[in-house]
Amino acid sequence: MISLAPLMVALALGQTDPYVRSRVDAGDTNTQCLYWTATRVTWQQSSYGNPATQGETEFDAMRRSFQSWQNIFTQCGNLVLEEGPRVADREVGYKREGDNRNLVLFRDRDCNTVVSATDACWDDDTCANKFDCWEDDDNTIAITLTTYDERSGIIYDSDISFNAARFAFTTADGTACFPPVTTNCVATDVQNTATHEIGHFIGLDHTRATGSTMNPSAPPGEVSKRTIDTGSHDFVCAVYPKGQASQACLHPAAEQELGPKASTGCAATGPSALLPALAAWALWLVRRRRDEVSR
Ligand SMILES: [Zn+2]
Repeated sequence: MISLAPLMVALALGQTDPYVRSRVDAGDTNTQCLYWTATRVTWQQSSYGNPATQGETEFDAMRRSFQSWQNIFTQCGNLVLEEGPRVADREVGYKREGDNRNLVLFRDRDCNTVVSATDACWDDDTCANKFDCWEDDDNTIAITLTTYDERSGIIYDSDISFNAARFAFTTADGTACFPPVTTNCVATDVQNTATHEIGHFIGLDHTRATGSTMNPSAPPGEVSKRTIDTGSHDFVCAVYPKGQASQACLHPAAEQELGPKASTGCAATGPSALLPALAAWALWLVRRRRDEVSR
């Protein structure tokens, strides 16, 4: 998907609903919504962290963001977001074989400065993984890359990348500051950014609703998205209702057929539990989609 598509669609429609679900085709309500059907989803932080952020505070900030969502799931939802061990992994995207992970990582090198302009990776969007660099738009603070089944909308994998090549990520409270000053103040807040991106991770698109965590822009110094708004809260309760199956938007029967198959394959938790049943489709139907928060 084109990285700016969700933002532009939201702007074009003047979308101000309390929450907007992500779709197989962004903004097209004739297509299925994206959502997890697993009951536990494990996410993992790349152990590299972000050296430019003070100490190891970025890891804790990330955990607080997931916890904010988890608090809502515990109250009215059906999903457990569980942190797995830190890993050396630097590759985002969905791996059909091997260790697929829902990875959270910072990229602190700009691909434009470390990759030759003639490298083939530019054509197939593989520079980020190949050279461990930030490949997307310069003004994009972070991106959530979601891999999902095109027919059912079921999410297989979601990975969050932070643009540390361009933005100074901080974890402190206080007034806004601008690099090179980043001590005891807020430049680009990790928790603010992560809370927004996790919204994408669980199937939210942007909305211009006042005060929404899913507002597509974030000025320097902003921390308000750390606190999840009532619209996004309601999304969790409605789409992932406690004691019930996660809610599709269209053709709910299709997912019910997949459910039992998924449980027969392996004992792994999270999205990997879906792999045995869905691998056969994956070549044809899996699509990737990027959602970002811009400056
Ligand atoms: Zn976004």
